[in-house]
Amino acid sequence: MKILVVDDSRSQAMLLSGILRAAGHEDVVTAHDAAEALAFLEERAATGGESGVDLILMDIVMPRMDGIEATKRLKADDRFRDIPVIMVTVRDEAASLERALEAGAIDYISKPVNRMELCARVRSVLRLKEETDRRKARERELEALTEKLEQLSNQDGLTAVSNRRRFDEVYAKEWLRARRDAMPLSLLMIDIDCFKAYNDTYGHLKGDTCLKVVAEAICMTLKRPGDFVARYGGEEFVVVLPCTDASGASAIAGEIRENVRGLRLEHATSTAAGVVTVSIGIASVVPRADIDSRELLSASDGALYQAKSNGRDRVELGEAP
Ligand code: GH3
Ligand code: MG
Ligand code: MG
Repeated sequence: MKILVVDDSRSQAMLLSGILRAAGHEDVVTAHDAAEALAFLEERAATGGESGVDLILMDIVMPRMDGIEATKRLKADDRFRDIPVIMVTVRDEAASLERALEAGAIDYISKPVNRMELCARVRSVLRLKEETDRRKARERELEALTEKLEQLSNQDGLTAVSNRRRFDEVYAKEWLRARRDAMPLSLLMIDIDCFKAYNDTYGHLKGDTCLKVVAEAICMTLKRPGDFVARYGGEEFVVVLPCTDASGASAIAGEIRENVRGLRLEHATSTAAGVVTVSIGIASVVPRADIDSRELLSASDGALYQAKSNGRDRVELGEAP
C-alpha cells in the first residue's frame, strides 16, 4: 500500500519514511509542502481515476498552506475523500489538533515521533483502509449485479425485447401520462399467423428463431424513442405508441406487416402467403378518467381477432373504448 508523507522539513520527512520503510512499508513517497502533495494526488488521479494513495501522514505546521487546510481540501474532493490522513503535530497543540480532527484527520501522532507508536497507528489505519476498499469493491459488484438482474427481470429471455411484466409497468405509466396531457395513445397487438403449423412443419428450434427475427423486425420499424415493444405471450407481441392517433398507428402497423412479410421466411403450411406473416389489431384513444386502461387492451385484442377472421396477414382498427 502506498503512503504519502507531507512535511516541509526534509529531515523530518526522511526520518518518517525511513521508519516506515524499515517496518516493511516499501511504497513511501514524500512531498515537501501541501501544494506538492495535492499536485501529486491530482497527477495520480488523472491517470488511474483514483489516487492510489492509501494513507497520508500530514505535518500540521507548514508554510503557505498548512496541513489542516490541505486536509480540508482533500476531504472536500470525491476522489480523495477516502484517503485516511494522520496528522503529525508538536505536542501541546491542543487547539490545532481539534481543528485537524474536525477537518477530517483520522488520527494524530506527536513529534518527536516514537517509532513504535508511529508503526502501530499506521498499521491499524492501513488495515482499516484495506477493509474499506474491499467493502467498496463488493458494493460496486453488487450494484452492477443488481442492475443486470433488474434488466433481466424486465426482458424476455428468447427475443430480448421487454417481457409482459415490463409491459404492464410501461403501459400503466403511458396511460397516466397520456391522460394528463390529453394526448392519444395507441396499442398494436401483433400475432404471428399459423404459428402452430410453422412449429409443426419446421420444428420448435426454427420456431424460436422465427420469433426472434420477427421481434427484430418489429423493433426496427419503431423509430420514436417513446415507442415500446414487448412479448405479450407465446407468439404475440404488443406495441405501445405514445402521442400517436389511429391513423399514425395504422401507418406503423402497416409498415410492421410489410417488414415481417419482407423477411421472406418460408412458411409452406401457412393459409396465407407461403411466408411468415402477422395479423395486427390496433386500438387508439385519448385516455380519460372514466375509461379503464384494460379497455384499450381488449379493443386491440378484438381488432386482432377481426384480422384473423378476415383472413390473416392484415391490419384491423378496433372501436375506440
Ligand atoms: P393464428 O394464425 O390463428 O394465430 O394461429 P396460430 O397457430 O399462430 O395460433 P395458436 O395460438 O393456435 O398457436 C400458437 C403457437 O405458438 C403454439 C405454440 O406452440 C407456439 N409458441 C408459443 N410460444 C412459443 C415459443 O416460445 N417458441 C416456439 N417455437 N413456439 C411457440
Ligand atoms: Mg398466431
Ligand atoms: Mg396467439
